[in-house]
Amino acid sequence: MTISEEYIKYLRELDKKHYLHPTSSIRQQQENGPAFIFTDGEGVYLKDISGKTLIDGMSSLWNVNVGHGREELGQVALEQMKKLGYSSSFATFSHEPAILLAAKIAEMTPGDLNAIFYTSGGSESNDTAFKIVRHYWNLKGQPEKKKIISRKRGYHGVAMGATSATGIPVFHAMSGGLLPDFLHVDAFSTQSLRDMIEAEGADTIAAFIAEPIQGAGGVHIPQDPHYFQRVREICDEYNILFIADEVITGFGRTGKMFAMEHWGVVPDLMSIAKGITSGYAQLGGVVISEKIHSELINLSKDTFFHGFTYSGHPVACAVALRNIEIIESENLVENSRVMGQEMLKGFQWLQQEIDIVGEVRGLGLVGAIEIVKDKATGERFESPLSPKIVAEAANRGLICRCVTFEGSDTLVFAPPLVINKEEINKMIHILHETFVATQ
Ligand code: PLP
Repeated sequence: MTISEEYIKYLRELDKKHYLHPTSSIRQQQENGPAFIFTDGEGVYLKDISGKTLIDGMSSLWNVNVGHGREELGQVALEQMKKLGYSSSFATFSHEPAILLAAKIAEMTPGDLNAIFYTSGGSESNDTAFKIVRHYWNLKGQPEKKKIISRKRGYHGVAMGATSATGIPVFHAMSGGLLPDFLHVDAFSTQSLRDMIEAEGADTIAAFIAEPIQGAGGVHIPQDPHYFQRVREICDEYNILFIADEVITGFGRTGKMFAMEHWGVVPDLMSIAKGITSGYAQLGGVVISEKIHSELINLSKDTFFHGFTYSGHPVACAVALRNIEIIESENLVENSRVMGQEMLKGFQWLQQEIDIVGEVRGLGLVGAIEIVKDKATGERFESPLSPKIVAEAANRGLICRCVTFEGSDTLVFAPPLVINKEEINKMIHILHETFVATQ
């Protein structure tokens, strides 16, 4: 069906008038309207209402791991909606999809992570994790242990706790500042973590939270292969709980099912979301260790007063179960590892060919390209060039994203885990053309 220009114009006007977009410039949105109105998706491709096709080089928001247009996920959602569209999981109520998914997640997460508290997304997962650790220390008779340490440049979401743990100042300004008892250390420096613990006193600190790979902060991968082992040791030494925020990195993104597996480290709590349903339904969760779970069982006397209406939504859980089956049966974790190497090779080729391509990074299907004015010195452009590159790349059929806060001028990528070599080559080709046209 062809859609008339008038109808597209009409939608654009409605969008400008009535739709406040998340994480966007409200004024620019008013002036320009939406650049794309997506109507369809298939594999790694998204289609715009005007008929233009683009490679979704970001898996939309790092989440569409199994790719677009999966009919079987729609089918499972329909069947679950017809059977039981919604029922509560509060108190003594339960239902089959949430139970089966909880068992599946316990089986697939590392070490003794074995019980899940469901949420609707990553921000809720992190706020929930903070409440669980504070509740845990309360029960253990140490209510003063409530500070949360996170890292500069880390991103943990937009609920008040998650924003406060986020180490990107523009998010703090937006919320009128940080909540009390949230502290930030240098990313990837165990000395900075140790110094903070010593300065504040371990008996005031509940937990340390970190993304295995910093995603929204610009795709930063630990250089030191022992970094997370040291973090684990420090947390154990000071009796501090370790929360891994695997919201982006979980479910195969980095070439392992969970990124902490790269370093053989088991956190006490793990926040998950995004790839658990590949974005086909809203779901997240906090997975807790056997140790924490049994302490909560033994010490709890009262209700745990925390729960969302949509904690463990049956449709979302049914979709998650099927989505995980797809990830496993199609070997998408291995594909992520292998195609990730291809993507990185492509970035390295661009680095040789193009003057403004500085450092490139990648692990599995998450990667970054730094834009520089001078490759030798690493000097950056006075005003970041990456927003212009992102717009140009989109015109040429590739969606990627830029990170420009605090002097960054970085392109980030996270294509669906179903991507093949030909599609990777197409991404690299579009990027090459884009750089040649922009530099
Ligand atoms: N944690 C990380 C590492 C994320 O990247 C994100 C979102 O990008 C979140 C938490 C927040 O998740 P949500 O947007 O689902 O609330």
